[in-house]
This record gives sequence, C-alpha cells and structure tokens, in this order.
Amino acid sequence: MSREQKAVERARKAFRTGRTRPLEYRISQLKNLQCFVVERQKEIADALKKDLNRSEVGTPLYETLVVESEINLTVSKLAEWAAPRPVTKNLLTLSDQVYIQPEPLGVVLIIGAWNYPWAVTIQPLIGAIAAGNAAVIKPSEVCVHTSKVMEELLPLYIDKEMYPVVVGGVPETQELLKQRFDHIFYTGNCAVGKIIMEAAAKHLTPVTLELGGKSPCYIDKNCDLTIACRRIVWGKYSNCGQTCIAPDYILCDPSLQDRVIEEIKKSVLEFYTEDPKSCPDYGRIINQRHFKRVMALLEGSSVALGGDNDESQCFIAPTVLRDVKPDAKVMQEEIFGPVLPILSVNSVNEAIRFINEREKPLVLYIFTQDKKLIYRMISETSSGGVLANDCLIHFSVSSLPFGGVGNSGMGSYHGKFSFDQLSHLRGCLIKQLKMEGVNQMRYPPHTTKKLKWARFFILKQVELSTLGRLALLALLAVVAAVMLQRYFAE
Ligand code: NAD
Repeated sequence: MSREQKAVERARKAFRTGRTRPLEYRISQLKNLQCFVVERQKEIADALKKDLNRSEVGTPLYETLVVESEINLTVSKLAEWAAPRPVTKNLLTLSDQVYIQPEPLGVVLIIGAWNYPWAVTIQPLIGAIAAGNAAVIKPSEVCVHTSKVMEELLPLYIDKEMYPVVVGGVPETQELLKQRFDHIFYTGNCAVGKIIMEAAAKHLTPVTLELGGKSPCYIDKNCDLTIACRRIVWGKYSNCGQTCIAPDYILCDPSLQDRVIEEIKKSVLEFYTEDPKSCPDYGRIINQRHFKRVMALLEGSSVALGGDNDESQCFIAPTVLRDVKPDAKVMQEEIFGPVLPILSVNSVNEAIRFINEREKPLVLYIFTQDKKLIYRMISETSSGGVLANDCLIHFSVSSLPFGGVGNSGMGSYHGKFSFDQLSHLRGCLIKQLKMEGVNQMRYPPHTTKKLKWARFFILKQVELSTLGRLALLALLAVVAAVMLQRYFAE
C-alpha cells in the first residue's frame, strides 16, 4: 500500500470514529491551527523568504493575517453555521419540521498552489475542519521550503490522523487522485484543473476548482489616474505578479496610455525604489522554469518600463508593455509575473466586447469615477468577482464568495461559503403520523376532484410568513376537515 493510500485510509478511519461531529472538537482543532500560525510565524516567514523572497512583514500582511481572521470568524460563527436552518414551508408541510441540516462530507483532499501557499492551503482546511470533515493536505511541491514546514510542523498542532499532510510532486498527487475522496478542493492552473476533475469523475467526487486566467483591468477616461495606477501597481507587482487575482492586462483609450505609463512609473519608484532588485519588498519568481516562461512572454512587444532581469536570482523588474496587440504572445496565457501589457480600446463597448470574447476571468477590475459605468460593466460581462477602483482587497472580505466561473474555476469559499462548500446541505422534513385526510388527494384512485385539491395546495401561494403559525395550523385543520368530509361523503 502506498504512503498516499495509507494516509487516506487513516484519515477515513479517523473520520469514521465520529470525533469530528461535536463542534467542540472542530473548535479546538481550529484554535490549535491558530496557535500554529501565531507560534510558528518565524518558521513560516523564513520559508516564504526562501521560496519567494517574501519580506518578514509581507508574510503576515499578505498571508497569515487573513488566515488568522478567517479562523476567528469561523470559531465565533460555527455554532450558527452548523445549526439546523429552518426554511419556508408550503401549505402541505405547514405542521411539519422543514429544515436544512449541514453535515460533514467525509474525507476532503486539499491540493494547494505555491504562490500564497498558506492562504490557498490553510483557508480551505479551515472550511474542512469547520464542516466536520477529515482532510488530506497536499501542499505544492514548488514552494519547497514552505511545504517542508507544513509537513513537519502542522502535525504538532492538529489531529494528524484526521488531517495528514502528504508532500510530493506530480506522481504523489496522481497517486492521491486514484483514491476515493468525498470532495477535492484544488487550487492551481486550468490545465491541471482538468486532470483533477477527470480523476474525480471516476469516483463521482465533487470538486472545487480555484483556477486562474487573465483578469482584465479597464481604466476609464473619467478616472483619477494617479490613484488608479498606484492601486494597480500594488495589485500587479505584489508577490512579483504571482497572484491569481493580479490585474493581468490593462484596457484603456489610446489617449490615456502615456499618462498611465507615467503614473505606473511613479508608483513603482515609490514602492520599490530605483533598484527593485535590492528592495526588500519586491519578490522573486518562484523558479527558473517560471522565470523563462515569463521572459518568453515579452517577445514581440515593446517594453515601456522595466524589463531588467537576472535569471540567477529569478528577478524580473516591474515591467510595462505598450501598444500590445490582442494576438501578442503575452496575451495568449495568464502572465503570472510582473509584466503588465497595455492594450487600446476606443470605447466602453469595445472593452466589454474584448472581455466577453475571452474566457470568463477570475476577477474584473474597473477604474472609473462613473458609478453607472461600473454597474453597466457588471451587468454586461461575467467573471468570478468584480472589484471597482481597487485591486486584490475583495479577497479579504469573508462575506463575499471567492471563486471563479467558467475557465476561472467552480465553487467558492471564504467565511461561511467555505463551510457550505465543504458540507452537505441535507434537506430534512419531519412529519407526524397524523392529519391523514390532507393526503387523500395524492392517493389512488386519482380523480379530477382530488386533482383540484392538489392544484389548490400546490399552486396557492400564501404569504406564510405574514400569517401566524397558529392561524396557519387552524387553516390547515379546517382544510383537512373539509376534505375528509368530502371524501367520506363520496
Ligand atoms: P502548482 O504547480 O503548485 O500546482 C498546483 C498543485 O497541482 C500542486 O500541488 C501540484 O502538485 C499539483 N499538480 C501539478 N501538476 C499536476 C499533475 N499533472 N497531476 C496532478 N497534480 C498536479 O501551481 P500552479 O498551477 O503553477 O499555480 C499557479 C496557478 O494557480 C495560476 O494559474 C493561478 O492563477 C492559480 N491560482 C489560483 C488561485 C485561486 O484562488 N483561484 C490561487 C492561487 C493560484
């Protein structure tokens, strides 16, 4: 039996003990996870420094603070989320208990990506724990040091039978994918997303796919370009452009291009100094394979800013490309690096058409002072999320579902959405063995008279919430009595 298979079997066995059912267990595991994040801040930051040149302050700012706040929220809301959720009744179920009972799915496989390895691996884990599942955690092998910290230290804090960490690359992940899970939560690129979904289909396992793609950024003429470009520079060049929700490219009127480049230049200088290479807040490309991939994307486009690079350090300066054509190499795939192409569009209509002709993005960015334009773009396009006049920060709002649509993914998470995504929302209806008269209309022999009653009960829309419960029960009793009388009279 392979190591991967053993880990899954152990997790399933642990799940079957039923110890995840009580909320106290889940809360204590979440608090242990919180302790891990707080106590092991140094190990986490050191590993991220080695993997991505993340600064010591950058680690909490971009990653662990979000995890901590997500744990706090989950611990404080878990009882509410896990409680039975009463739902609206219809006339036929007036006197019954009708509610949704969230229940654990079983064993969840979490496959993380390397770019924000804690956020994208631990945040789904928070949802899995909260929903009462076991979870096999598979961090990305690409962030070598972080994955080692996860493997070595996480089991010291949380139930290692229930939440095993399995490290490894493609062969190990594929071995894991042969096993049967109750849900697979994958974060990474679209091509592998398809492999994951195919493997899941063999066991009819549902998936959440948190993918990427090219997120457009439209800048309107009616806009404060200084503020807009400052926010775009932050969103694009944080983590050296390796952010799933980084603005991938800019769409703007040709008359704006020079000013946009000028403003971006100013903000790059302000944030990363004249020498980004020695700036502690400027990251590195994760490895040489990605370095070569990003550099190759520059081919055939004119560099307006940056372009400096050093392969030995996986360094690429904040770069802007001007007058980029839709068929340029840089426009054929997600950039996932510090390269920002600017494309011209002559009108809002053209921008909307450009966006709609391509795969649905993970996020659409709009920069404008014009609220009507924002609403128009929201209503005439589709994307995982929309953020107007800022970058990235929608990720931190746990009351918004975070996820893609179409090619940018399926399913969503954060806050209560994580809990729901990793729960089965079980519909429960509890009747009493009484009031049999009301049921006569559905029992054979079927007659037109009974059909009339069925029509009344099924189609009659009564605003149930406006009537008192007792009044409703009285109404139901009267209806049942009338029906009984009629049927017996027949
Ligand atoms: P990656 O290379 O780390 O791969 C992700 C995971 O898939 C890893 O755990 C890896 O082991 C596994 N994997 C890779 N190849 C596989 C194969 N052939 N079979 C089975 N498993 C395999 O990460 P990546 O894909 O380079 O991550 C970057 C991508 O992820 C970008 O497209 C980015 O937009 C996207 N992303 C999305 C989100 C989101 O929340 N939507 C967050 C972060 C990253």
